[in-house]
Amino acid sequence: MRDLLSSTAARAARYLEEIAERRVSPSPEALAAIARFDEPLPAEGSDPEAVIAMLDEIGSPAAVAMAGPRYFGFVIGGALPAALAADWLTAAWDQNCSLDRITPAAARLEQAALGWLTDLLRLPPASGGGFVTGATVANFTALAAARHAVLARAGWNVEADGLFGAPPITVVVGAESHPTLFKSLGMLGLGRNRVLSVPTDGQGRMRADALPPLAGPAIVCTQAGNVNTGAFDPIAAIAARAHEAGAWVHVDGAFGLWAAASPRFERLAAGVEAADSWATDAHKTLNVPYDSGLAFVRDADALRAAMAITAEYLPTASERRNPCDFTPELSRRARGIAVWAALRQLGRSGVAALVEGMHANARRFAAGLAAAGYEVLNDVVFNQVLVSFGEPAATLRVVAALQEDGTCWCGGTEWQGRTAMRISVSSWATTEADVDRSLEAMVRIARGRS
Ligand SMILES: *Cc1c(COP(=O)(O)O)cnc(C)c1O
Repeated sequence: MRDLLSSTAARAARYLEEIAERRVSPSPEALAAIARFDEPLPAEGSDPEAVIAMLDEIGSPAAVAMAGPRYFGFVIGGALPAALAADWLTAAWDQNCSLDRITPAAARLEQAALGWLTDLLRLPPASGGGFVTGATVANFTALAAARHAVLARAGWNVEADGLFGAPPITVVVGAESHPTLFKSLGMLGLGRNRVLSVPTDGQGRMRADALPPLAGPAIVCTQAGNVNTGAFDPIAAIAARAHEAGAWVHVDGAFGLWAAASPRFERLAAGVEAADSWATDAHKTLNVPYDSGLAFVRDADALRAAMAITAEYLPTASERRNPCDFTPELSRRARGIAVWAALRQLGRSGVAALVEGMHANARRFAAGLAAAGYEVLNDVVFNQVLVSFGEPAATLRVVAALQEDGTCWCGGTEWQGRTAMRISVSSWATTEADVDRSLEAMVRIARGRS
């Protein structure tokens, strides 16, 4: 075991050492080689060392350099050193992180991380929280608590009796809500399309003045961080109006909730603390390895009511917090330990510096592109930049050629009728030099000198 783990650590270290200088997208040769994984199940077993050698030799060159400093697609965080290493140790521990009495150390580490997170993100300290796979499931989990609470107030027990015959719930979303929010609503039986959509402004923010009149069970889904522009809904104003009508206010803050951790950016997240539930990712802004999302609910009992399991053979009665009372899963890996390690490595000032560095690099991109004569379409308030290189076809050509070039990676998008390239600065590893090197490639390609 020791030799295998040491050689694997050496392989991983080599991968990470080389990542800043290799192509971000894999080479055609590396992609061709992954066909070697298409083999029948071996009849006989192999030496573990040979299994890992095959994985590294074929897999590592074909991996997209998402952990590197110049991946700007989607919203993809890297992996902080302590978080990556803690994840390895967590895998070695192989804890079933369901019940405090079964895995006390893992449960306690997750509880410590939750306490730090509510403090850092300025959420109510008594909130319930769960470690889930990502913001999709965090939205699902938090909205399950919302569904429980608004129906309980109407005298209906949704966990026991389901939605058949239940009082209808009004669900309000912003016109630029993330597509995964609709998936969560669909999984909850609330319907992907059975929503009232509130128009957005020129930055993609839900218009508080356009909130429909609310009565009866209602859930309003706001957003902290638009996936295109990085813009934040005016959550304070929306929450005030929604709460007057007794509605539940949810925040999808997959990457943006972390603005609250920086004294310079907390104003962006103003009013977030007034909401009833929050979803965020740790694998985006916090740079914890996949998969890592977080659901928070002000009324911890509402989250527990939606998620808890009881069975004779499960020792669920506990003075302490049972992780499985707050997540869809019973058995799961102790993914909160890597979150704990990331926070322990960075401290309060380190998380603030991480967020501020992402913003500074996004601003550097926007300034460089504007100086080169290209149109930046959004106010760069956080870590997202939208740029047009002219006609839609020209922009799409630049995006495709940039991905092919390999210096960095950006995706394309359609935003409010415009075709744009999206730059999302989300990695701890990105330096100013990485921004400049990426800008050089973008401008070179846009000017047709690729
Ligand atoms: C990324 C993102 C999601 C989905 O998060 P996953 O971690 O991919 O499940 C939801 N909402 C917003 C605003 C996002 O940026």
